[in-house]
Amino acid sequence: MVLTSEQLLCVLDQGDGTTGAERGVWLWRTTDPGISLESLWGAPVGCLAHAMLDLREAMLGPQLELHDRCPRCDEEIEFTVSIPEIRLAQPPMDNPPFDVEIDGQPVTLRRVSCDDLRRVERGEITDRAGVIARCVSQGLEGLDEAGHGSIDAILGERDPQADVTFSLACPACAHSWEGVFDPCEVVWTELRARAKQLLFDVDALARAYGWSEAEVLKLSPPRRRAYLELLDR
Ligand SMILES: [Zn+2]
Repeated sequence: MVLTSEQLLCVLDQGDGTTGAERGVWLWRTTDPGISLESLWGAPVGCLAHAMLDLREAMLGPQLELHDRCPRCDEEIEFTVSIPEIRLAQPPMDNPPFDVEIDGQPVTLRRVSCDDLRRVERGEITDRAGVIARCVSQGLEGLDEAGHGSIDAILGERDPQADVTFSLACPACAHSWEGVFDPCEVVWTELRARAKQLLFDVDALARAYGWSEAEVLKLSPPRRRAYLELLDR
């Protein structure tokens, strides 16, 4: 499942005014059009993360070059992560309610969905309690703060791919912290850069040979590279 050259260029048309989850679901849907949009939005967040890691590995390889800033001294650190090391088994896409017991109280809930994530990113849900209220279908009124903590832990256990974190240490001040990985953001940024490069290549070939965008995109990537090398001679 990779984006075709035409689909990759469409990445440049998307993005403004959309959230990370919306961009991620667009990529997921483009590479896997057999799944309905309703299923994608209802799927647990870990499924979206898994799909983004698969797409990234298929298109750009398994080594992720990431960076973060030390929260104490603002030093920028760079690190490399291998996708197979952070990708867990594919989580099931269906998201049925399940029952647990918290302090003797029965609670029915489901995993956090891509739609929940989109609502958080849009500011429609502003805190963790709002997410829990959407996930818990029965027993919400009996939950105190500790109960919310238990729900949080259960949601994490049931969808571990949804939260990928790294233990990071600052080489400058030795501070250590948990870096959070946002697969939609990282993969989108990388694919957008790749799409811009493709646009430059199309521009160069269109100018040199008088071809249309469609004609350039019809060439296989190796053939396109070969023509670009000829232009550089
Ligand atoms: Zn530091």
